Amino acid sequence: MQLEISTELAELRAALRRFTSERLEPIALEIDRTGAVPDGTIELLRDQGYLGMRLPEEFGGGGCDLPTYCLTLEEFSRSHRVFTLILDGSSGLNPIAIARFGSDEQKRKYVAGLANGSLTAAFALTEPEAGSDSQAIRTRAERTPGGWLINGRKHYISGAHVADVILVMAVTDPVKRARGGISSFLVDRGTPGFTVTRVETTIGSDAIKIAELTFENCFVPDSAVLGEVGKGFAIAMESLVSGRLGVACSCLGAADRLIEMSARHANERKTFGQPLADRQAIQWMLADSATELAMARAFTYETLRRVQAGEETGSATSMCKLYCTEMVGRVADRAVQIHGGMGLVRSYPVERFYRDVRHYRVGEGSSEMHRMLIAREVLR
Ligand SMILES: Cc1cc2nc3c(=O)[nH]c(=O)nc-3n(C[C@H](O)[C@H](O)[C@H](O)COP(=O)(O)OP(=O)(O)OC[C@H]3O[C@@H](n4cnc5c(N)ncnc54)[C@H](O)[C@@H]3O)c2cc1C
Repeated sequence: MQLEISTELAELRAALRRFTSERLEPIALEIDRTGAVPDGTIELLRDQGYLGMRLPEEFGGGGCDLPTYCLTLEEFSRSHRVFTLILDGSSGLNPIAIARFGSDEQKRKYVAGLANGSLTAAFALTEPEAGSDSQAIRTRAERTPGGWLINGRKHYISGAHVADVILVMAVTDPVKRARGGISSFLVDRGTPGFTVTRVETTIGSDAIKIAELTFENCFVPDSAVLGEVGKGFAIAMESLVSGRLGVACSCLGAADRLIEMSARHANERKTFGQPLADRQAIQWMLADSATELAMARAFTYETLRRVQAGEETGSATSMCKLYCTEMVGRVADRAVQIHGGMGLVRSYPVERFYRDVRHYRVGEGSSEMHRMLIAREVLR
């Protein structure tokens, strides 16, 4: 049984599934082999209309709605997490924030380029002393004639080592802080005083890197402020709803693929003269994974429908993010167990999925932060 968001999107899923298995899957294998995204990948996604698909058409985007975008993330994530990050780079927080809050000049300078993949952006909020407690950031931006001087350090910033522009959150009023004292600045690569001081790979694919950024008396003009001074935190929080649902749908896609691979392996692999699929121990793992995926999908699709209809959803998006990210962790663990040694060997995708999905419980608000938000609503 395949749950669908809507009948129209069922047709889109079929097209996406074909594109992903025929065109993206060979690229995914290449990414795993080399640890880099091969040339031509961005162009392929652009030519097929996937880059910037959620941005308004006036900026060269596809103008699609959130459910369509999330379904695309779900299907891409069946192949490789890297494709979902490329999609997010051209339709996620950074381009959406600039399209929504940017000045005409900022929109002209960045949005079309981000939408078509010729520019990349990074979002720099996290600091060594401020992760979950993001309001505690210490990076300061102080007024100077004609602009601002930024000083501070950001770390774990996705893709910042190659980004053309960084959306930097900095304190502009230490008394007000998150209540009107944090602003966002668009800092171009190469701006004097801004350096990438460290690049790291993580538990997932080597193609995904995070960077530490240092700002030392980095001057940016007034025109680099995104939106109003003091509204930076609000801009960051605006994107949370769609970000959580995007992550939830990426987990649905990864879980779906892991179950598919596990079922195939269970049917093909014989031990003690019989297929693994005949063993109740294996069947129960598959049954648990399939049940958890179906439940996660039903609630996530329902929440997507409600968000799209403009309904108040309370902590439902946190529940989707929390449940789906934890669900895919359990599904990946069972998939490794069903595959035995093959589940731990680099040349098979299960091992990579197992590592890649671990990111989801930390990024975009950790499980603990989402439990905190849900509990707050329960206790109110
Ligand atoms: C691969 C990757 C990509 C990232 N990309 C970006 C990016 O592009 N931009 C960006 O700004 N940041 C990014 N981050 C940072 C990410 O958002 C933070 O790592 C995350 O918010 C957690 O912060 P922390 O690492 O400082 O952990 P901490 O805040 O130190 O938390 C450590 C652990 O304690 C838990 N915890 C913290 N406080 C509490 C509490 N009060 N009660 C219970 N448990 C608690 C947390 O949930 C976590 O499990 C990225 C991180 C990674 C690993």
